[in-house]
Formats: sequence, C-alpha cells, structure tokens
Amino acid sequence: MSMDHDQILALDNSIVWHPYSSIGSGHPIYPVASANGVRLRLCDGRELIDGMSSWWSAIHGYNHPVMNQAVSQQLESMSHVMFGGLTHQPAVELAAKLVKLTPKPLQTLFFADSGSVSVEVAMKMAIQYWYSKKKPEKDMFLTIHNGYHGDTFGAMSVCDPVSGMHSIFSGVLAQQSFVDSPTCGFGEPCKKSDIAPVAEQLEQNHQQIAAVILEPIVQGAGGMRFYSADYLKQVRELCDKHDVLLILDEIATGFGRTGKMFACEHAGISPDIMCVGKALTGGYITLAATLTTREISETISSGEPGIFMHGPTFMANPLACSAGLASLRLLTESPWHLRVTRIEMGLRQGLEPCRELAQVADVRVLGAIGVVEMKKPVDMKAIQPAFVEAGVWVRPFGKLVYLIPPYVINDKDLNQLTSAVRDVVASIA
Ligand SMILES: *Cc1c(COP(=O)(O)O)cnc(C)c1O
Repeated sequence: MSMDHDQILALDNSIVWHPYSSIGSGHPIYPVASANGVRLRLCDGRELIDGMSSWWSAIHGYNHPVMNQAVSQQLESMSHVMFGGLTHQPAVELAAKLVKLTPKPLQTLFFADSGSVSVEVAMKMAIQYWYSKKKPEKDMFLTIHNGYHGDTFGAMSVCDPVSGMHSIFSGVLAQQSFVDSPTCGFGEPCKKSDIAPVAEQLEQNHQQIAAVILEPIVQGAGGMRFYSADYLKQVRELCDKHDVLLILDEIATGFGRTGKMFACEHAGISPDIMCVGKALTGGYITLAATLTTREISETISSGEPGIFMHGPTFMANPLACSAGLASLRLLTESPWHLRVTRIEMGLRQGLEPCRELAQVADVRVLGAIGVVEMKKPVDMKAIQPAFVEAGVWVRPFGKLVYLIPPYVINDKDLNQLTSAVRDVVASIA
C-alpha cells in the first residue's frame, strides 16, 4: 500500500536522520514521488527544476532511458556478487575506461562504495606506499583550510577543522598539517605569499608527510572557493621536490563540472592518487574509485604485507558499475563541453546582478558551478520554502547559495533557476 504525503512526513520526522540534520527539527522537508529530466516531482504534485544535480551527481538528469536500460539489463544477469576471488565484465570494463579517461600516470583502480571511503583508501595507499618503501614515519597529511573530503574519520581529519563541521571530534582525529588556503582566485597567477606556507611545511616536515591532499581548483562543501591553477601546479612541483605524494580529490569536480573532464587539467598536472565519485554513476547508484600509478601499486604489492589492506563487502557492485559505464558513455559521446560552457554563460548572466545586493558578499562562476556568497548564513527555515515556492530545488548551506544543475538543462529552465536565486536572495534582508 502506498503512503500519502502526510504519512511519509510523519514517519520521516520521528525516526529518520537526514544529512547534517537533527531528529524532529521541524525544518522543512519535501517528499519526492518521482524525478524526470531536470525536474523533481513532489508528492503534493508540485514540480521543481533541479539546481543541485543531487549534489553534483545527476549530470544527465533523472530517469534517463539509456541509464535505466543499462541498469535493468544488468539486473537480469546479476545485481551483486562478492569481489573477493571473483570478477565481472562491468567492473573490468569500467576500470579500463576510467584509467583511459583520467590522467596518464594513473593506471590501476580500487572500487569504493562512497566518496568518503575512496578518500580513506587514498590515504591508506599513501601510508602503505611509504611503509613499503621502509619509511613508515611518513604517515601524516598536509592540506589546506576550507577543504572537504568526506565524513569518515580519516577523511574528517583532512577536512577544514572549523568549517569542516567536525570540530567536536578533534580529540579522536588523527592530527594532520594545515596551511591557509590560497587567496589567488581562478585565472589569477599564484602569489609567493600563497604558496610559501606549503613550501615551508614541506621543507620542514617532508620526512613525516605521506601526501598532500587537495580538492583541485574548486573547494566544494568547505566553502565553494575557486583557486588558481598556477597554485596547484606549484604544489605538484613542491611534492616532487620533497618526495611527497599528491592526492587529488576529484569527487565533486570530476567528469566535466569545471569545464575540463577533470579539474587538474586546468593546471596541466596529474596526481599520484586520485579519487572520483559523485557523477561517476550519473547519480544512479553509490560508487567511487581511487586510482593510482603503476609504481605505487607495485610498491605496495611487493612490500610488507604485500597486499593492500581494504576490501568493502559491496566492492565493484555490478549494478553500480553498469550505471558508471552508461554514464561515461553518455558523457563522452555528448557535447558535454559545449553544454557546460553554455551553462557557465547562463550562470554568469543570471547570477551577476546579485552582486549589487547589500546582503551579497561575492558572486562567482566556473564551469557549471554558480555561487552567490552571502554576508551572513542564510536562514534555512525561510529560504528553503521560498525556493520551493519559486518552483526550483536549491539547497543552500551556511552563507552559500549555489547552483550545480544537470548538464542537460535547457536555457529556459536555467533562466528560471537563476531568476529564482535573484528573487529569493533579494527578498532576504
Ligand atoms: C562529496 C564529497 C566527498 C564525500 O563523498 P561521499 O560519497 O559523500 O562519501 C569527498 N570529497 C569531496 C570533494 C566531495 O565533494
């Protein structure tokens, strides 16, 4: 028997946790009945244009016939088998495609079940690499402020200690090294004063540091900041100079969002270890992956204990891998670059007027990412219903009102998204 709108809400409110939420908060929440293209259909019949791609992931929109077909076809042969001692075509085919698509030095791949887990895996790879090289003292990580790498304990330890929302756990988190995030914006040269703290830390502590871990070009949930490609390039050079690995977390930026297939391409560099997730399956099923070089893989495999110490139960889930394959095919065979460029222009045009508003601190756009940063944190209880009333799904956090729409959005729908942001932002004093 299907539940009605109020029954869903009542059960939800009393027993179900949501991301970064409390039980029984009374914050507005909206039951969704279905989703199609760039529209979410609520149980009360209203339709909302999606400005979030379900957190960077649904790049082809919802209920896509090609995606649906791939997953239902896979369902008919097997939905899951363990990955210990067994393998299957969806996994090896997707791994080969990802190795081909990502920067050249990345040659092997570990399937993880979420972005956070792929970050744990990346950090463990870096530590195990140095352990195998008989340098077990290299087990710390260096990162920059305003970063976000996930919610598990290893990932939390490299999130911004303040904006990372994890400060209450600081007592049990591994202590890592943090330096200020760069002030040089995207498209600007990197100032000496920006790179100096990284250079200094690596100079002094490279004997303890396994890797530098960064989100390339765009810092997502830690502040939606865009920084200079030149900075990233210089970090790569410093890592090489000091024998420190570079981990790039492309979970949010990967698969075209910033206007390049991977954000590190803006800087013309490649990492030693890279994490992908979010858009990997076009928003269909949770899946992430950690890629690394042949040298790191062989060093780990020939060292002590000779195996990599990680293995999730649902590793390389065939349904997820088949969704990944279909999503990659859709992406690479589409004019994704033109679409992202067109969205970039629409976001610039549509959001730029917000800069005039007294309550707005900054407006910035890169690729299919548009950000309106407010001077004060928004009141979610007021702003969320205002967006729903305007017929759009926009989910701000803190001071940030931002749009990351599906790549398939048309100009008219994009226009409605940006005009809703203008109106709602203007209406909050
Ligand atoms: C979302 C995100 C993660 C965490 O991924 P989950 O799938 O939510 O665990 C890690 N790093 C970055 C940059 C992200 O945007």
